[in-house]
Amino acid sequence: MKVTQAEYVISAVSPKQYPTENIPEIALAGRSNVGKSSFINKLIQRKSLARTSSKPGKTQTLNYYLINEQFYFVDVPGYGYAKVSKKEREKWGSMMETYFQSRKPLKAVILVTDIRHEPTKDDIQMYQYLKYHQLPVIVIATKLDKIPKNKQAQFKKRTQTVLELDKDDHLIAFSSETAEGKEQAWAAIRHYLAK
Ligand code: GDP
Repeated sequence: MKVTQAEYVISAVSPKQYPTENIPEIALAGRSNVGKSSFINKLIQRKSLARTSSKPGKTQTLNYYLINEQFYFVDVPGYGYAKVSKKEREKWGSMMETYFQSRKPLKAVILVTDIRHEPTKDDIQMYQYLKYHQLPVIVIATKLDKIPKNKQAQFKKRTQTVLELDKDDHLIAFSSETAEGKEQAWAAIRHYLAK
């Protein structure tokens, strides 16, 4: 997809602030520092529309970016950041619950993982949580450039196995450095936007 327009719209903390025009939404979730902002920026060919995080776990808002006036990327705050207080975590939990449970325009969730590592307990929990809410998931296993070519298939398979990925869900190996996987990521997004 050629992105001609990408515009930050709002940081929402409660449903009152969610956009109301019924434009489809694709949410993005992932552990803090996993490479989520780099993924969005690569996809939309912007240097830093989505802030790459200097303070992981600190953005406790849903950040809406309008793409080509066609759909929203909704950047969900990173999870699994140990230094966040219990209270903050609870706040995060209830905001996410409200959003994932009842957001009608939400078409699919992109879950960003690090292909170098086995999906963590948090990643698995997040995936199961999204499936519990019957949301389609596109897993982006990023930092592919860090894995030698002859091992890439094996690492991708491990992500699929450990997450117990549904057969309908997509898994795309990706690199923000080389842009590998970018077209597949767009194809998966288009697939859900067309539904
Ligand atoms: P976020 O907290 O999930 O938004 O993570 P960032 O996008 O800020 O990325 C965290 C760190 O990982 C940064 O230093 C990025 O440069 C690096 N990074 C992100 N994606 C990639 C990738 O595909 N390959 C490599 N080699 N580094 C990456």
